[in-house]
Amino acid sequence: MKTSIATVSIAGNLREKLGAIADAGFDGIEIFEQDFIADAGSPRDVGRMIRDHGLEITLFQPFRDFEGLPAGLRAKAFDRAERKFDLMQDLGTDLILLCSSVHPEALGGIDRAAADFAELGDRAARRGLRVGYEALAWGRHVNDHRDAWEVVRRADHPNVGLILDSFHTLARKIDPDTIRRIPGDRIFFVQLADAPAIDMDLLYWSRHFRNMPGEGDLPVEAFTRAVLATGYAGPVSLEIFNDQFRGSSARTITRDGYRALIATLDDVRRSEPELTVDLPPMPARIPVQGIAFVEFATRNGEAQSLKQLLAALGFEAVASHIAKDITLWQQGGIRIVVNEEADDFAGTAFNVHGTNVCDIGLSVDSAADTVVRATALGASPFSQPLGPGQLDIPAIRGLGGSVLHFLDDTGKLADVWSIEFGAGSARDVTGAGLVAIDHIAQTMTYGEMLSWSLFYTSLFRMGKSPMVDVVDPDGLVRSQALETDTGSFRITLNGAESHRTLAGAFLSESFGAPVQHLALATNDIFATAAALADRGFEALPISQNYYADLAARFDIPADTLDRMRAANILYDEDAHGAFYQLYSRPFANGMFIEILERRNGYAGYGAPNAPFRIAAQKRFMRQSGIPSR
Ligand code: MG
Ligand code: MG
Repeated sequence: MKTSIATVSIAGNLREKLGAIADAGFDGIEIFEQDFIADAGSPRDVGRMIRDHGLEITLFQPFRDFEGLPAGLRAKAFDRAERKFDLMQDLGTDLILLCSSVHPEALGGIDRAAADFAELGDRAARRGLRVGYEALAWGRHVNDHRDAWEVVRRADHPNVGLILDSFHTLARKIDPDTIRRIPGDRIFFVQLADAPAIDMDLLYWSRHFRNMPGEGDLPVEAFTRAVLATGYAGPVSLEIFNDQFRGSSARTITRDGYRALIATLDDVRRSEPELTVDLPPMPARIPVQGIAFVEFATRNGEAQSLKQLLAALGFEAVASHIAKDITLWQQGGIRIVVNEEADDFAGTAFNVHGTNVCDIGLSVDSAADTVVRATALGASPFSQPLGPGQLDIPAIRGLGGSVLHFLDDTGKLADVWSIEFGAGSARDVTGAGLVAIDHIAQTMTYGEMLSWSLFYTSLFRMGKSPMVDVVDPDGLVRSQALETDTGSFRITLNGAESHRTLAGAFLSESFGAPVQHLALATNDIFATAAALADRGFEALPISQNYYADLAARFDIPADTLDRMRAANILYDEDAHGAFYQLYSRPFANGMFIEILERRNGYAGYGAPNAPFRIAAQKRFMRQSGIPSR
């Protein structure tokens, strides 16, 4: 299908917008009049510039307050339309959007509006142009696509058609299946937008809070299915009014938009296979079996500190890479790769961020399929020159400059560890009883959170939990968990609004390193805490007040509470079970390790403890002279 995006959705001048839109993979644009007016070029120059970017103008918009006007105003509206037709011909586009009138003097009546459109259709036809009618959710007389369709139907003119916009239909909770009875060839254009569920004035909600399909709470996929069920085969376009997006990088927003649009169309054909969706085939969302490895980029003194920490955590260096300065550390089912190479991707990542997690490896059914789906959604494949004996492991660039590698059980990939690290890689290490990576916590600005959740949920079979507020003494951090239904892969996203929060300070100190903490699971938190202490591991000290409060909130036996206090173990419970966690002290630019035990299917992440943990980290950093803002 032809993909399109409205220029109003992104930041920049027209040239910058066109570059970002073309690079993201779109076929066309809806040109907003303001974008055209603000450009210095003539209409013909602007049209040529758009086509030079390989883009088509799918729609010119908006034209407001046309239909139902009393005689004098009516004539002026037709004059205005003729001037816009001139402009469209110069730009090189044949379709204009007319949104339903909000004019205070506009008169109601379907037949009156239909007569206006029939006449406008005649005038458009003389120039080979078409007009499309859209019901605004707050239109004065027409605010429902069913009424707009009735106007178009009665106008009965081949150059007059309907324009559908998911926001206007879904925000008013109109059943999208009512679209199915409209003939597809009478629908001239379709706009998709999602929005978070907020109870507010429709116009304000629409102009400021729209977001990409899948990022909000509206049933955009069901809407799109209904549209395609009519046989509509024209462009599918994003029209996203969002204050935050308009202040963000145009390249990020256009990539997100393309990803959201393709994922939605792919969802449509999966949920209603009888529909024809003109989109190349791609694998379905990828199930993730687990985290195969986490790779740190590090060097020199920081490398020594990291290795000391890993040893204190019970990890053992089981093997060295056959060709590169890379060590494999293991414990239970956890593999940590410590990369000290100066010249490869890790070397570059270290130069930018200092010690950081530069690469995450995921176990999937088919690594090749994963890369196919990711690239279909607009991700870039990743590769770097191979050393002798190294395998070409399928990989993509993630967000925040990181890399994701994919491992499966096919061919040589199944033996990647023995091929690249030799026989030592098969050794079992019990260590301190850590068995698996429970979750990876990534930090970004609050404004980037939607990009990250869309990236993961469009590529992998993962759900997202509601966003929660975490109180840092110096500001709010938003936190959202993404997880597979089996818990085989869990990511927590932490969006910092202020650089003074711990998450924000980490972002600025590390120049945007994506991973702030790794959470490692044990089946016996007390045995692990004792084993860690034997190895010289120093936990983050937790305040006595925390334990006094814990005793008041939960029914914990006194001796258990004493053991928790002694080992700095935090506690939470949910409807399923109990949760124990302890933290390392911060290392590198403020990264840390969390150790946790989930009992009886506890499903959360200890969010109620986060404010106390953050306060303890800031206290510790202050006392140790580590910058924490
Ligand atoms: Mg619209
Ligand atoms: Mg955590």
